[in-house]
Amino acid sequence: MPDTERPGESFDIVLNVDLSKRTSELAERNLALLDEHGVTAVDVLGSVGSGKTTLINRMIERLKGRRRIGVIAGDITTRIDAERIEVQGVPVLQIQTGGTCHLDADVVRRALERVDLDAIDLLIIENVGNLICPAAFPVGAHQRLLILSVTEGPHMAVKHPIMVRQADVAVINKIDLAEAMEVALERLSEDVRGVNPEIDVVLTNARAGEGVDDVIAALGL
Ligand code: MG
Ligand code: ZN
Repeated sequence: MPDTERPGESFDIVLNVDLSKRTSELAERNLALLDEHGVTAVDVLGSVGSGKTTLINRMIERLKGRRRIGVIAGDITTRIDAERIEVQGVPVLQIQTGGTCHLDADVVRRALERVDLDAIDLLIIENVGNLICPAAFPVGAHQRLLILSVTEGPHMAVKHPIMVRQADVAVINKIDLAEAMEVALERLSEDVRGVNPEIDVVLTNARAGEGVDDVIAALGL
């Protein structure tokens, strides 16, 4: 241990810049492909159990009359989310990442080859449930929708600043449980805006459908 480091001190690790450059180039290419076909893509991010699939389903229920929707669902091993969404009658492509804890632009490009992009105009991408590394892997979506759940405690925004900074819309979900979880919604909303002053914050109880129209409006869909 260098003598500048002592037990109890902390230090920062800087991400590999080359990897980050390559992944953003691939993401740009995905965006160009989507634009060519007139498809708007939304990358949905949130921890396991935050309510990503539930919110996606509620959004599809409201949007499917006026938008042609397709879904790409990322998961490490299961098809549970894809099966929950398929009942809506929209095309769902499941990506099982086989251990990888995020989607990346290359995996999404290969998925896009299997989606009929002329048959849809809105693509919803459910990322793998995790708020750490997806921040470093843009998939090539027009907007990033971040879901924080009050069940994750009061410090989610300040503990995931990179993710919050990259998101366009932040949903605070399961607000019906805020009191039981001792989470102050105003405080959490302020934390989110403190990290990213540009972001739209929407409070939802996705299971009950509360706030879902506001999410759709915030995304401009
Ligand atoms: Mg899910
Ligand atoms: Zn990962």
